Amino acid sequence: MSEIQRDSYRAQPGGWRNRLVSLHEQLQQQAGIGLGTPWQGDPVPAPSWVAYNASLARELGWPADWRQLQHEGVSALDVWSGNAVWPGMKPIATVYSGHQFGVWAGQLGDGRALLLGEMDTAAGLQEFQLKGAGRTPYSRMGDGRAVLRSSIREYLCSEAMHGLGIPTTRALTLTASPLPVRREVMETAAVVTRVAPSFLRFGHFEHFAYCGEAGATQALQALVDFVVEHHYPELKDEADRPMALLRTVIERTAELIAAWQSVGFCHGVMNTDNMSILGLTIDYGPFGFLDGFDPEHICNHSDSNGRYSWNNQPQVAYWNLRALANALVPLMPEVKRDPAPVLEALQQFETAFPRAMTARWRTKLGLLTEEVDDGRLAIDLLRLMAQHRVDFTIAFRRLCEFRSDVAAADPLNAPIRDLFLDRDAFDQWAGRYAQRLHREGSVDAERCDRMQAVNPLYVLRNHMAETAIRRAQSGDFSEVRRLEALLQQPCQAQPGAEADAGFPPTWAQSIEVSCSS
Ligand code: AMP
Ligand code: MG
Repeated sequence: MSEIQRDSYRAQPGGWRNRLVSLHEQLQQQAGIGLGTPWQGDPVPAPSWVAYNASLARELGWPADWRQLQHEGVSALDVWSGNAVWPGMKPIATVYSGHQFGVWAGQLGDGRALLLGEMDTAAGLQEFQLKGAGRTPYSRMGDGRAVLRSSIREYLCSEAMHGLGIPTTRALTLTASPLPVRREVMETAAVVTRVAPSFLRFGHFEHFAYCGEAGATQALQALVDFVVEHHYPELKDEADRPMALLRTVIERTAELIAAWQSVGFCHGVMNTDNMSILGLTIDYGPFGFLDGFDPEHICNHSDSNGRYSWNNQPQVAYWNLRALANALVPLMPEVKRDPAPVLEALQQFETAFPRAMTARWRTKLGLLTEEVDDGRLAIDLLRLMAQHRVDFTIAFRRLCEFRSDVAAADPLNAPIRDLFLDRDAFDQWAGRYAQRLHREGSVDAERCDRMQAVNPLYVLRNHMAETAIRRAQSGDFSEVRRLEALLQQPCQAQPGAEADAGFPPTWAQSIEVSCSS
């Protein structure tokens, strides 16, 4: 390992920096308003590694011994558990606001997250953020901590989503401490390091639109410019940057939600403060993957009205985009006179989402060409799956091996057909599917390969996370690490993982996941 590679990781010139902190300092000087509060983590006792993402570290171009490196007496473990910083890191807790469950919640902010800094990596410029590193000025009633249970869920699911090819913040490290943390019961603390090009959320923009402080509009404009210049450079020369940004975020969000829907992912807390301005999946809390298909499935035990159920996710995304649009209006003086352009921009979601969704269903069904009725074909399958509560992941995976050259009722099609109680209804649908495949000259074996590359065998079902959590709570982290490796390649059959590809056990139904984390 060369010293140059080491240096780029652990610090110094060209190493750690924080452009958001620079913007914060500039705004404070020029407009008397900041983006948050420079802050240090509150150390935890006796931190230890639970998991560390070697494949992400490789993508970042970091040396193989990145976890062993010391710098000025500060170890990597100290840094990634929030107990110390390396030179160049300028941690900040940022301020944001947001709508929670459809209601304006006012100021929120990084109540337990700290942006340590950013670094130029082999995967581009990335921000590194700790979650659970202690109280900040935005903690409100919270303790600033995250428990091992929820941190394992976040760590595993962000890597599972990445494995599925879905835009997401990543997880680099997971460290634990014996520090007791009170939730419904006493648990222990953990810190996750998350990595993303930016952790800015819709809520950051809402904050400066509504906080009413002097200089807030200037900060809002500066934030838009920052995001455009650093993350959407293709929009730099647009005359109306806020509008251009809005339109692009609408497209990205439509793509993201279509991706979620296509794997049966339910986010669980789609509040505007949990919506990324880059269209990434962020803030893994009470998420869930569908088992038996129920479109109204609510994964968050605290969401009694089902606002964030699976089939509401596209609507909620649209609602959240409207909140973002409203927040950008102060920067669009002409919109105050005539709201038409912003309404028109929002309407873009009504075409962008179905377009993205239909494209996803087509890919899942192995279709290469486009026919107008493809969306209907997919929806009719989903309707049938819903009627029979057919397992979402297993159904699409078994459909890969559907044989269009024999009758639907042929024993060769039994694995998929037998998932449906009403065999006649399945046969009718399968007949239409087979005709559709024949019309495009589809070759079963080739289609099977295509479909198996997008229809996962393994998703992070609640019971899998639960098993890893229970073992970890008794000091055995092997299941966390096994699942991490498994979910990094969710479409490839892996020896010894048959049970992970199977139906969830009955006890899975008793798992309740709430906002408590
Ligand atoms: P979430 O529902 O996790 O997206 O969090 C909503 C808000 O509550 C954010 O401002 C979080 O930073 C804050 N928050 C959640 N849990 C805690 C905690 N244990 N301590 C401090 N702040 C928290
Ligand atoms: Mg959040």
